[in-house]
Amino acid sequence: MQEKNNVTMDKITSLAKRRGFIYRGSEIYGGLAGTWDYGPLGVRLKENIKNLWRKKFIEDRDDMYEVDAALIMNPKVWQASGHAAGFTDPLVECKKCGKRFRADQLRGEKCPECKGVLSEERTFNMMFQTYIGAAKDDASLTYLRPETAQGMFVNFKNILDTFHPKLPFGLAQIGKAFRNEIAPRDFLFRAREFEQMEIEYFIREGEWKEQFEKWREEMLSWCQEIGLPANMVHEKEVEANELAHYSKRTIDFEFDFPFGRSELYGLAYRTDFDLRNHTEASGVDLSFYDEESKERFIPHVIEPTFGIDRTVLALLVSAYNEDSLGEEGRVFLKLPYAIAPVKVAVFPLLKNKPELVKKAKDTFDNIRKKIPQTVFDDNGNIGKRYRRQDEIGTPFCVTIDFDTLEDGSVTLRDRDTGEQKRISVEELLSVVQKHKSV
Ligand code: ATP
Repeated sequence: MQEKNNVTMDKITSLAKRRGFIYRGSEIYGGLAGTWDYGPLGVRLKENIKNLWRKKFIEDRDDMYEVDAALIMNPKVWQASGHAAGFTDPLVECKKCGKRFRADQLRGEKCPECKGVLSEERTFNMMFQTYIGAAKDDASLTYLRPETAQGMFVNFKNILDTFHPKLPFGLAQIGKAFRNEIAPRDFLFRAREFEQMEIEYFIREGEWKEQFEKWREEMLSWCQEIGLPANMVHEKEVEANELAHYSKRTIDFEFDFPFGRSELYGLAYRTDFDLRNHTEASGVDLSFYDEESKERFIPHVIEPTFGIDRTVLALLVSAYNEDSLGEEGRVFLKLPYAIAPVKVAVFPLLKNKPELVKKAKDTFDNIRKKIPQTVFDDNGNIGKRYRRQDEIGTPFCVTIDFDTLEDGSVTLRDRDTGEQKRISVEELLSVVQKHKSV
Protein backbone atom coordinates (compact mmCIF):
# COMPACT_ATOMS: atom_id res chain seq x y z
CA MET A 1 0.00 0.00 0.00
CA GLN A 2 1.52 3.23 -1.11
CA GLU A 3 1.35 6.19 1.26
CA LYS A 4 1.59 9.68 -0.13
CA ASN A 5 1.86 12.94 1.66
CA ASN A 6 0.51 15.04 -1.26
CA VAL A 7 -0.35 17.77 1.18
CA THR A 8 -1.52 21.25 0.21
CA MET A 9 -2.79 24.10 2.34
CA ASP A 10 -6.24 23.73 0.74
CA LYS A 11 -6.43 20.11 1.81
CA ILE A 12 -5.42 21.00 5.37
CA THR A 13 -7.83 23.92 5.75
CA SER A 14 -10.73 21.98 4.31
CA LEU A 15 -10.05 18.92 6.45
CA ALA A 16 -9.70 21.15 9.52
CA LYS A 17 -13.12 22.68 8.84
CA ARG A 18 -14.86 19.51 7.66
CA ARG A 19 -13.86 17.56 10.73
CA GLY A 20 -14.27 20.26 13.34
CA PHE A 21 -10.68 21.23 14.12
CA ILE A 22 -10.56 24.85 13.01
CA TYR A 23 -13.07 27.26 11.49
CA ARG A 24 -12.69 30.77 10.12
CA GLY A 25 -13.22 33.38 12.82
CA SER A 26 -16.68 35.06 12.68
CA GLU A 27 -17.45 32.94 9.64
CA ILE A 28 -21.18 33.75 9.30
CA TYR A 29 -20.20 37.41 8.84
CA GLY A 30 -17.73 36.62 6.10
CA GLY A 31 -14.87 36.01 8.51
CA LEU A 32 -12.37 38.38 10.10
CA ALA A 33 -8.93 38.30 8.51
CA GLY A 34 -6.24 36.78 10.67
CA THR A 35 -8.59 35.11 13.18
CA TRP A 36 -9.45 31.44 13.58
CA ASP A 37 -11.83 29.57 15.87
CA TYR A 38 -10.88 26.18 17.23
CA GLY A 39 -13.65 23.57 17.22
CA PRO A 40 -13.89 20.57 19.56
CA LEU A 41 -11.10 18.52 17.97
CA GLY A 42 -8.84 21.53 17.51
CA VAL A 43 -9.23 22.42 21.17
CA ARG A 44 -8.28 18.87 22.16
CA LEU A 45 -5.28 18.83 19.85
CA LYS A 46 -4.10 22.16 21.19
CA GLU A 47 -4.62 21.08 24.80
CA ASN A 48 -2.62 17.90 24.15
CA ILE A 49 0.26 20.04 22.83
CA LYS A 50 0.08 22.38 25.82
CA ASN A 51 -0.03 19.50 28.30
CA LEU A 52 3.00 17.83 26.74
CA TRP A 53 4.85 21.13 26.79
CA ARG A 54 3.89 21.82 30.39
CA LYS A 55 5.01 18.35 31.39
CA LYS A 56 8.37 18.52 29.62
CA PHE A 57 9.33 22.07 30.45
CA ILE A 58 7.66 22.71 33.82
CA GLU A 59 6.43 19.65 35.68
CA ASP A 60 9.39 17.38 34.96
CA ARG A 61 11.89 20.07 36.02
CA ASP A 62 12.66 21.73 39.34
CA ASP A 63 13.74 25.09 38.01
CA MET A 64 10.61 26.42 36.29
CA TYR A 65 7.84 28.71 37.51
CA GLU A 66 4.66 29.06 35.50
CA VAL A 67 2.69 32.30 35.40
CA ASP A 68 -0.49 33.38 33.70
CA ALA A 69 -0.28 37.14 33.41
CA ALA A 70 -2.93 39.61 32.25
CA LEU A 71 -3.27 40.15 28.51
CA ILE A 72 -3.64 43.87 28.98
CA MET A 73 -0.67 45.40 30.72
CA ASN A 74 0.32 48.86 31.90
CA PRO A 75 1.41 50.76 28.74
CA LYS A 76 4.70 51.62 30.45
CA VAL A 77 5.65 47.97 30.00
CA TRP A 78 5.62 48.43 26.23
CA GLN A 79 7.60 51.64 26.41
CA ALA A 80 10.28 49.97 28.53
CA SER A 81 10.38 46.82 26.39
CA GLY A 82 10.92 48.84 23.22
CA HIS A 83 7.70 47.62 21.59
CA ALA A 84 5.98 51.02 21.55
CA ALA A 85 8.80 52.47 19.49
CA GLY A 86 10.22 49.46 17.72
CA PHE A 87 7.68 46.68 17.21
CA THR A 88 7.05 47.66 13.63
CA ASP A 89 6.93 46.21 10.16
CA PRO A 90 7.59 48.19 6.99
CA LEU A 91 4.31 48.96 5.25
CA VAL A 92 3.65 49.97 1.63
CA GLU A 93 0.30 50.75 0.08
CA CYS A 94 -0.76 50.36 -3.55
CA LYS A 95 -1.76 53.74 -4.96
CA LYS A 96 -4.16 52.10 -7.39
CA CYS A 97 -6.06 49.38 -5.45
CA GLY A 98 -5.29 50.55 -1.91
CA LYS A 99 -4.06 47.14 -0.73
CA ARG A 100 -1.36 47.09 1.92
CA PHE A 101 1.71 44.87 2.00
CA ARG A 102 4.72 44.16 4.15
CA ALA A 103 7.57 45.72 2.17
CA ASP A 104 10.09 43.09 3.30
CA GLN A 105 7.93 40.30 1.89
CA LEU A 106 7.41 41.74 -1.58
CA ARG A 107 9.26 40.68 -4.66
CA GLY A 108 9.54 43.46 -7.24
CA GLU A 109 8.47 47.09 -6.98
CA LYS A 110 4.88 46.85 -8.21
CA CYS A 111 1.67 45.85 -6.44
CA PRO A 112 1.46 42.04 -6.61
CA GLU A 113 -2.35 42.25 -6.99
CA CYS A 114 -2.85 44.87 -9.70
CA LYS A 115 0.68 45.93 -10.69
CA GLY A 116 -0.08 49.48 -9.50
CA VAL A 117 2.58 51.84 -8.15
CA LEU A 118 3.44 51.41 -4.48
CA SER A 119 3.74 54.20 -1.91
CA GLU A 120 6.88 55.04 0.03
CA GLU A 121 7.64 52.64 2.85
CA ARG A 122 6.49 53.65 6.33
CA THR A 123 6.74 51.91 9.65
CA PHE A 124 3.60 50.36 11.10
CA ASN A 125 3.35 49.41 14.77
CA MET A 126 1.81 45.98 15.09
CA MET A 127 0.38 46.31 18.58
CA PHE A 128 -3.41 46.42 18.88
CA GLN A 129 -4.48 49.53 20.72
CA THR A 130 -7.24 49.72 23.23
CA TYR A 131 -8.46 52.13 25.91
CA ILE A 132 -8.77 51.44 29.59
CA GLY A 133 -11.89 52.84 31.28
CA ALA A 134 -14.40 55.33 29.95
CA ALA A 135 -12.02 58.04 28.71
CA LYS A 136 -10.56 57.70 25.25
CA ASP A 137 -7.39 59.72 25.40
CA ASP A 138 -3.62 59.30 25.46
CA ALA A 139 -3.63 58.64 29.19
CA SER A 140 -5.98 55.67 28.84
CA LEU A 141 -4.34 54.19 25.74
CA THR A 142 -2.84 50.75 26.10
CA TYR A 143 -2.23 47.62 24.05
CA LEU A 144 -3.06 43.95 23.86
CA ARG A 145 0.18 42.08 24.50
CA PRO A 146 2.11 41.17 21.32
CA GLU A 147 4.11 38.49 23.17
CA THR A 148 3.78 36.65 26.46
CA ALA A 149 7.39 37.40 27.41
CA GLN A 150 6.79 40.73 29.16
CA GLY A 151 4.23 39.13 31.49
CA MET A 152 7.15 37.12 32.84
CA PHE A 153 9.65 39.97 33.18
CA VAL A 154 7.16 42.03 35.19
CA ASN A 155 6.65 39.07 37.54
CA PHE A 156 10.35 38.34 37.97
CA LYS A 157 10.50 40.04 41.37
CA ASN A 158 7.30 38.37 42.58
CA ILE A 159 8.81 34.97 41.86
CA LEU A 160 12.08 35.94 43.60
CA ASP A 161 10.20 37.12 46.67
CA THR A 162 7.85 34.16 46.97
CA PHE A 163 10.00 31.24 45.81
CA HIS A 164 13.64 32.35 46.32
CA PRO A 165 14.94 30.41 43.31
CA LYS A 166 18.62 29.94 42.56
CA LEU A 167 20.15 30.68 39.18
CA PRO A 168 19.60 29.39 36.61
CA PHE A 169 15.81 29.24 36.69
CA GLY A 170 12.99 30.05 34.35
CA LEU A 171 9.53 31.56 34.15
CA ALA A 172 7.15 29.95 31.69
CA GLN A 173 3.87 31.08 30.27
CA ILE A 174 1.25 29.78 27.88
CA GLY A 175 -1.18 32.31 26.48
CA LYS A 176 -2.56 34.52 23.78
CA ALA A 177 -0.66 37.19 21.91
CA PHE A 178 -2.02 39.74 19.46
CA ARG A 179 -0.30 41.32 16.48
CA ASN A 180 -1.96 43.52 13.95
CA GLU A 181 -0.18 41.78 11.08
CA ILE A 182 -0.23 43.78 7.86
CA ALA A 183 -0.86 40.71 5.77
CA PRO A 184 -2.23 37.70 7.69
CA ARG A 185 -1.88 34.60 5.52
CA ASP A 186 -1.37 30.88 5.24
CA PHE A 187 -4.12 29.74 7.60
CA LEU A 188 -2.85 29.55 11.19
CA PHE A 189 0.68 30.52 10.21
CA ARG A 190 0.29 34.28 10.33
CA ALA A 191 -2.74 35.22 12.37
CA ARG A 192 -3.57 38.39 14.28
CA GLU A 193 -4.50 36.52 17.43
CA PHE A 194 -2.51 33.44 18.35
CA GLU A 195 -1.05 31.52 21.27
CA GLN A 196 2.50 31.16 22.47
CA MET A 197 4.33 28.95 24.93
CA GLU A 198 7.36 30.88 26.12
CA ILE A 199 10.16 30.53 28.62
CA GLU A 200 12.40 33.23 30.04
CA TYR A 201 15.36 31.35 31.44
CA PHE A 202 17.49 33.49 33.77
CA ILE A 203 21.21 32.84 33.82
CA ARG A 204 24.59 34.32 34.71
CA GLU A 205 26.00 36.27 31.78
CA GLY A 206 29.10 34.09 31.57
CA GLU A 207 27.12 30.92 30.90
CA TRP A 208 24.96 32.16 28.03
CA LYS A 209 26.63 30.17 25.28
CA GLU A 210 26.35 26.90 27.17
CA GLN A 211 22.73 27.58 28.17
CA PHE A 212 21.84 28.61 24.65
CA GLU A 213 23.21 25.29 23.41
CA LYS A 214 21.22 23.35 26.04
CA TRP A 215 18.00 25.04 25.01
CA ARG A 216 18.75 24.46 21.34
CA GLU A 217 18.89 20.75 22.10
CA GLU A 218 15.77 20.89 24.26
CA MET A 219 13.85 22.51 21.43
CA LEU A 220 14.99 19.91 18.94
CA SER A 221 14.04 17.11 21.31
CA TRP A 222 10.60 18.69 21.75
CA CYS A 223 10.11 18.68 17.95
CA GLN A 224 11.03 15.03 17.91
CA GLU A 225 8.84 14.14 20.89
CA ILE A 226 5.71 15.61 19.33
CA GLY A 227 6.44 13.74 16.12
CA LEU A 228 7.65 16.43 13.72
CA PRO A 229 9.86 14.67 11.18
CA ALA A 230 13.49 15.68 11.74
CA ASN A 231 14.02 16.25 8.02
CA MET A 232 11.29 18.92 7.98
CA VAL A 233 12.77 21.01 10.83
CA HIS A 234 15.73 23.26 10.07
CA GLU A 235 17.80 25.61 12.17
CA LYS A 236 18.60 29.03 10.82
CA GLU A 237 21.05 31.40 12.43
CA VAL A 238 19.51 34.88 12.23
CA GLU A 239 21.95 37.37 10.68
CA ALA A 240 23.21 40.16 12.92
CA ASN A 241 21.41 42.87 10.91
CA GLU A 242 18.09 41.02 11.20
CA LEU A 243 18.16 40.43 14.95
CA ALA A 244 15.27 41.80 17.02
CA HIS A 245 16.08 44.93 19.01
CA TYR A 246 16.67 42.94 22.21
CA SER A 247 18.66 40.00 20.88
CA LYS A 248 22.36 39.21 20.63
CA ARG A 249 21.85 35.81 19.06
CA THR A 250 18.76 34.11 17.64
CA ILE A 251 18.15 30.80 15.97
CA ASP A 252 14.92 30.25 14.08
CA PHE A 253 13.62 26.72 13.90
CA GLU A 254 12.04 26.57 10.48
CA PHE A 255 9.59 24.02 9.17
CA ASP A 256 8.82 22.87 5.63
CA PHE A 257 5.26 24.13 5.31
CA PRO A 258 3.48 23.61 1.96
CA PHE A 259 4.02 27.32 1.20
CA GLY A 260 7.75 27.10 1.90
CA ARG A 261 10.25 26.88 4.70
CA SER A 262 9.20 29.30 7.45
CA GLU A 263 9.70 30.04 11.13
CA LEU A 264 8.10 27.62 13.53
CA TYR A 265 9.91 28.50 16.77
CA GLY A 266 12.63 30.87 17.93
CA LEU A 267 15.46 30.76 20.43
CA ALA A 268 16.88 34.12 21.46
CA TYR A 269 19.56 35.37 23.80
CA ARG A 270 17.90 38.54 25.12
CA THR A 271 20.87 39.56 27.33
CA ASP A 272 19.74 41.61 30.36
CA PHE A 273 17.86 43.98 28.06
CA ASP A 274 14.39 43.54 29.51
CA LEU A 275 15.14 43.38 33.24
CA ARG A 276 17.54 46.33 32.92
CA ASN A 277 14.99 48.46 31.08
CA HIS A 278 12.19 47.55 33.49
CA THR A 279 14.46 48.40 36.42
CA GLU A 280 15.13 51.84 34.95
CA ALA A 281 11.57 52.51 33.88
CA SER A 282 9.75 51.25 36.97
CA GLY A 283 12.29 52.30 39.57
CA VAL A 284 12.00 48.81 41.09
CA ASP A 285 15.29 46.98 41.53
CA LEU A 286 15.17 43.79 39.46
CA SER A 287 18.65 42.62 40.31
CA PHE A 288 19.40 39.25 41.83
CA TYR A 289 21.62 38.39 44.79
CA ASP A 290 23.63 35.31 43.90
CA GLU A 291 24.41 33.36 47.09
CA GLU A 292 27.05 31.37 45.27
CA SER A 293 29.22 34.24 44.09
CA LYS A 294 27.98 36.72 46.75
CA GLU A 295 27.31 39.18 43.97
CA ARG A 296 24.31 41.25 43.00
CA PHE A 297 23.57 41.65 39.27
CA ILE A 298 20.83 41.67 36.68
CA PRO A 299 20.51 38.15 35.25
CA HIS A 300 20.70 37.53 31.53
CA VAL A 301 18.04 35.57 29.74
CA ILE A 302 17.65 32.85 27.13
CA GLU A 303 14.21 32.74 25.55
CA PRO A 304 12.83 29.65 23.81
CA THR A 305 9.52 30.53 22.18
CA PHE A 306 6.98 28.15 20.68
CA GLY A 307 3.98 29.26 18.64
CA ILE A 308 1.10 26.90 19.40
CA ASP A 309 -0.89 27.53 16.24
CA ARG A 310 2.18 27.02 14.07
CA THR A 311 2.74 23.76 15.96
CA VAL A 312 -0.82 22.69 15.19
CA LEU A 313 -0.29 23.54 11.53
CA ALA A 314 3.06 21.75 11.33
CA LEU A 315 1.55 18.66 12.93
CA LEU A 316 -1.43 18.62 10.58
CA VAL A 317 0.88 19.08 7.59
CA SER A 318 3.30 16.33 8.57
CA ALA A 319 0.58 13.92 9.70
CA TYR A 320 -1.48 14.27 6.51
CA ASN A 321 -1.42 11.14 4.36
CA GLU A 322 -3.30 9.56 1.52
CA ASP A 323 -3.23 5.88 0.61
CA SER A 324 -5.20 3.30 -1.31
CA LEU A 325 -6.84 1.52 1.62
CA GLY A 326 -10.55 0.77 1.13
CA GLU A 327 -12.54 1.04 -2.07
CA GLU A 328 -11.86 4.69 -2.79
CA GLY A 329 -8.62 5.18 -0.91
CA ARG A 330 -8.51 7.37 2.12
CA VAL A 331 -7.05 10.39 3.85
CA PHE A 332 -5.61 9.85 7.28
CA LEU A 333 -3.72 11.85 9.87
CA LYS A 334 -0.75 9.93 11.18
CA LEU A 335 -0.70 11.89 14.44
CA PRO A 336 1.36 10.53 17.33
CA TYR A 337 -0.82 8.93 19.98
CA ALA A 338 -0.12 11.64 22.55
CA ILE A 339 -1.22 14.38 20.15
CA ALA A 340 -4.28 12.72 18.58
CA PRO A 341 -7.51 14.36 19.82
CA VAL A 342 -9.27 11.00 19.97
CA LYS A 343 -7.31 7.95 21.13
CA VAL A 344 -9.90 5.22 20.73
CA ALA A 345 -13.27 5.17 18.94
CA VAL A 346 -15.76 2.47 19.91
CA PHE A 347 -18.46 1.33 17.44
CA PRO A 348 -21.36 -1.10 17.53
CA LEU A 349 -21.24 -2.97 14.20
CA LEU A 350 -24.90 -2.13 13.59
CA LYS A 351 -26.80 0.63 15.25
CA ASN A 352 -30.24 -0.92 14.94
CA LYS A 353 -29.43 -3.94 17.11
CA PRO A 354 -30.07 -2.91 20.73
CA GLU A 355 -28.01 -5.72 22.21
CA LEU A 356 -24.96 -4.66 20.16
CA VAL A 357 -25.44 -1.00 21.01
CA LYS A 358 -25.74 -1.80 24.70
CA LYS A 359 -22.63 -3.97 24.68
CA ALA A 360 -20.77 -1.25 22.76
CA LYS A 361 -21.86 1.41 25.26
CA ASP A 362 -20.75 -0.75 28.20
CA THR A 363 -17.40 -1.44 26.54
CA PHE A 364 -17.01 2.24 25.77
CA ASP A 365 -17.67 3.19 29.41
CA ASN A 366 -15.14 0.63 30.52
CA ILE A 367 -12.42 1.81 28.12
CA ARG A 368 -13.10 5.50 28.76
CA LYS A 369 -12.42 5.06 32.47
CA LYS A 370 -8.88 3.95 31.66
CA ILE A 371 -8.22 5.89 28.45
CA PRO A 372 -9.45 9.47 28.35
CA GLN A 373 -10.24 10.91 24.91
CA THR A 374 -12.16 7.79 23.92
CA VAL A 375 -15.36 8.37 21.90
CA PHE A 376 -18.47 6.40 20.95
CA ASP A 377 -19.55 6.54 17.31
CA ASP A 378 -22.58 4.89 15.70
CA ASN A 379 -23.12 7.38 12.93
CA GLY A 380 -23.33 5.99 9.38
CA ASN A 381 -22.01 2.64 8.21
CA ILE A 382 -18.80 1.16 9.54
CA GLY A 383 -16.76 2.19 6.48
CA LYS A 384 -17.80 5.82 6.96
CA ARG A 385 -16.88 5.66 10.64
CA TYR A 386 -13.41 4.36 9.83
CA ARG A 387 -12.96 7.05 7.27
CA ARG A 388 -14.02 9.76 9.72
CA GLN A 389 -11.73 8.47 12.46
CA ASP A 390 -8.83 8.15 10.00
CA GLU A 391 -9.29 11.77 8.97
CA ILE A 392 -9.05 12.99 12.55
CA GLY A 393 -6.08 10.75 13.30
CA THR A 394 -7.67 8.31 15.79
CA PRO A 395 -5.03 5.61 16.32
CA PHE A 396 -7.45 2.83 17.31
CA CYS A 397 -11.00 1.83 16.40
CA VAL A 398 -12.81 -0.88 18.33
CA THR A 399 -15.83 -2.65 16.86
CA ILE A 400 -18.37 -4.60 18.87
CA ASP A 401 -20.15 -7.34 16.89
CA PHE A 402 -22.13 -10.52 17.49
CA ASP A 403 -19.02 -12.46 18.50
CA THR A 404 -18.46 -9.93 21.26
CA LEU A 405 -21.78 -10.96 22.76
CA GLU A 406 -20.60 -14.58 22.71
CA ASP A 407 -17.01 -14.42 23.87
CA GLY A 408 -16.28 -10.80 24.83
CA SER A 409 -13.68 -10.34 22.07
CA VAL A 410 -13.62 -7.13 19.98
CA THR A 411 -12.09 -6.09 16.67
CA LEU A 412 -9.20 -3.69 17.05
CA ARG A 413 -8.26 -1.75 13.92
CA ASP A 414 -4.97 0.04 13.54
CA ARG A 415 -5.15 3.44 11.82
CA ASP A 416 -1.87 3.30 9.95
CA THR A 417 -2.02 -0.20 8.52
CA GLY A 418 -5.79 -0.74 8.51
CA GLU A 419 -5.09 -4.15 10.05
CA GLN A 420 -7.78 -5.69 12.19
CA LYS A 421 -7.42 -8.30 14.88
CA ARG A 422 -9.66 -9.89 17.41
CA ILE A 423 -8.65 -9.46 21.00
CA SER A 424 -10.14 -9.24 24.44
CA VAL A 425 -10.87 -5.89 26.06
CA GLU A 426 -8.05 -6.46 28.57
CA GLU A 427 -5.55 -7.07 25.78
CA LEU A 428 -6.90 -4.05 23.98
CA LEU A 429 -6.25 -1.84 26.99
CA SER A 430 -2.67 -3.01 27.24
CA VAL A 431 -2.05 -2.53 23.49
CA VAL A 432 -3.40 1.00 23.66
CA GLN A 433 -1.64 1.90 26.87
CA LYS A 434 1.68 0.86 25.38
CA HIS A 435 1.27 3.75 22.97
CA LYS A 436 0.96 6.34 25.70
CA SER A 437 4.59 7.30 25.53
CA VAL A 438 4.70 7.51 21.75
P1 ATP B 1 7.74 36.23 11.96
O1 ATP B 1 9.13 36.61 11.54
O2 ATP B 1 7.21 35.01 11.28
O3 ATP B 1 6.79 37.39 11.94
P2 ATP B 1 8.61 36.63 14.59
O4 ATP B 1 10.08 36.38 14.46
O5 ATP B 1 8.10 38.00 14.70
O6 ATP B 1 7.81 35.82 13.47
P3 ATP B 1 8.51 35.96 17.31
O7 ATP B 1 8.37 37.37 17.73
O8 ATP B 1 9.81 35.28 17.51
O9 ATP B 1 8.07 35.81 15.80
O10 ATP B 1 7.30 35.14 17.94
C1 ATP B 1 7.49 33.93 18.62
C2 ATP B 1 6.67 32.81 18.01
O11 ATP B 1 5.31 33.16 17.96
C3 ATP B 1 7.04 32.49 16.56
O12 ATP B 1 8.12 31.59 16.52
C4 ATP B 1 5.76 31.87 16.05
O13 ATP B 1 5.70 30.50 16.38
C5 ATP B 1 4.69 32.61 16.81
N1 ATP B 1 4.11 33.68 15.99
C6 ATP B 1 4.62 34.91 15.78
N2 ATP B 1 3.81 35.63 15.00
C7 ATP B 1 2.74 34.85 14.71
C8 ATP B 1 1.54 35.04 13.96
N3 ATP B 1 1.29 36.19 13.35
N4 ATP B 1 0.67 34.01 13.88
C9 ATP B 1 0.91 32.83 14.49
N5 ATP B 1 2.02 32.60 15.22
C10 ATP B 1 2.93 33.59 15.35
